[in-house]
Amino acid sequence: MPSTTTTERTTTAWLAALEQRIERRDPGEPEFHQAVREVLETLAPVFDARPELREARVMERIAEPERQILFRVVWQDDQGRTQVNRGFRVEFNSALGPYKGGLRFHPSVNLGIVKFLGFEQIFKNALTGLGIGGGKGGSDFDPRGRSDAEVMRFCQAFMTELHRHLGENTDVPAGDIGVGGREIGYLFGQYRRITNRWEAGVLTGKGIGWGGSQTRTEATGYGNVLFTSEMLKVRGEDLEGQRVTVSGSGNVAIYTAEKAQALGAHVLTVSDSGGYVIDEKGLDLELLKQIKEVERGRVSDYAERRGGSARYITGGSVWDVPSDVALPSATQNELTEADALNLVRGGVKAVSEGANMPTTPEAVRVLQAAGVAFGPGKAANAGGVATSALEMSQNAARTSWPFERVEEELAGVMRRIHDTAYETAERYGRSGDYVAGANLAGFERVADAMLAQGLI
Ligand code: NDP
Repeated sequence: MPSTTTTERTTTAWLAALEQRIERRDPGEPEFHQAVREVLETLAPVFDARPELREARVMERIAEPERQILFRVVWQDDQGRTQVNRGFRVEFNSALGPYKGGLRFHPSVNLGIVKFLGFEQIFKNALTGLGIGGGKGGSDFDPRGRSDAEVMRFCQAFMTELHRHLGENTDVPAGDIGVGGREIGYLFGQYRRITNRWEAGVLTGKGIGWGGSQTRTEATGYGNVLFTSEMLKVRGEDLEGQRVTVSGSGNVAIYTAEKAQALGAHVLTVSDSGGYVIDEKGLDLELLKQIKEVERGRVSDYAERRGGSARYITGGSVWDVPSDVALPSATQNELTEADALNLVRGGVKAVSEGANMPTTPEAVRVLQAAGVAFGPGKAANAGGVATSALEMSQNAARTSWPFERVEEELAGVMRRIHDTAYETAERYGRSGDYVAGANLAGFERVADAMLAQGLI
């Protein structure tokens, strides 16, 4: 770590003042403030090295979305009752390409959460090296317990407003929490009906038979495991025989567990908002997929049907289970300082974020101080959006690539993201700090594009 110079102190103070201005201007958005703070805390070296970026107020511009769309979504439930929800799309930055980022359907969704996700997405998408800008959206609609027909009516009502803001060269949503293949299908159908256009590249995560890409379903989870393997390789280790804990039991969690098992790890846990399962024999993924993907059940059903080796613990924290590698794959701020201390006591070597911002800032500090390899979501879970960009390429060329080809591309992207974050951290004197490396590298790419494109 270089010694603190006067300029650096000045830059740090300027960044702190900027952070306060952003917090004052957008009150009541704690997750957005957290995401901004985490980036600003790491950017001093680049502003010191390149004063023109400060002069052009690039950071203030990045923290202000290009456009925010809020809308009413009215639909009818199975009992014929009227339901009213709120829809969001934050089009954050298009310097590198069309806005790209998922849609989240969860009762906790509000503008601050969509903005935190969209802000992170800018840097993540830049890190992939591909031509995609950053955006995010969603609704406070809760798909849990809703029938297929209700989910369809909601998706149709949602797209009836959103469609006018989308386009394969404008804004390209994908899935996130509560939005999987079923929802993307209903959203795409409504877009096609309203616009009378077969515009495959307008949404990603589509079904394989109608414009989807092989490996997209697996990509975020697989990508995080590949990123983790790269971090371990730097330390002369691999995943073979390691005890791995995974949180969540949705898209990211399932394919994280699948890839980790394929690389010889012993995957012990999954969870949902009700509790977690510990399976001493290692997870039975076929059973888990049947329950979660086909029956839309809970992890408690898994424990019940798996029998002997699996226990279900109501509430509690999956991070109480000692492991060598922990892969949070559920939601933001799910791994706290106390959890990090537990993990360190249990001998954890690597923590890598499949979810977006699952580790609190205090927990990140504990892990980094203990010398644990820490992979931030911006880098570690970028495999999903990278594969979405590959889906867009296939759509544009009206072709589709085999699974092996997409998986190979994904592995290449994850290696490059790892190396870029690692080498950028080295270049700025933050050796081994993937948080700083990912933020600095993502920021530089977006900032350079913005400088070149003038004051917009
Ligand atoms: P899913 O909806 O498929 O699964 C989410 C899982 O997390 C479920 O098991 C859910 O349990 C659990 N979960 C959600 N909210 C909470 C909560 N408040 N407390 C405890 N558990 C919770 O979503 P994904 O797997 O797609 O997304 C998981 C994470 O990965 C998110 O942070 C998302 O932003 C991130 N991500 C996803 C990408 C993708 O390609 N899908 C790409 C990059 C990041 P329950 O059913 O009980 O709610």
